[in-house]
Amino acid sequence: MLVNLYEDIVRRRSVDVIQQLGACGCEECVDDVCALALNRLPSKYVSTRGGEVFSQFYINTPQGEAELTTALILAVKTVSDNPRHGYKR
Ligand SMILES: [Zn+2]
Repeated sequence: MLVNLYEDIVRRRSVDVIQQLGACGCEECVDDVCALALNRLPSKYVSTRGGEVFSQFYINTPQGEAELTTALILAVKTVSDNPRHGYKR
């Protein structure tokens, strides 16, 4: 089975970044933030057996961490400027 390593970590981190930036944390906005951030990041597909090793090796490096945070902040700003929930409120 193939897994994109970023998918899980982006899901978890998106909530933190949304809170830090005071953005909307509704389900639609979180989904949009995750989609944008994941599109911005390089895909890191691995077979599940090798996944943990690789995530420790790359995502936990300062560079991987910086890429992840930057992608999330940009995604949150983009979604905040154009929230899809807007028409409901
Ligand atoms: Zn929202």
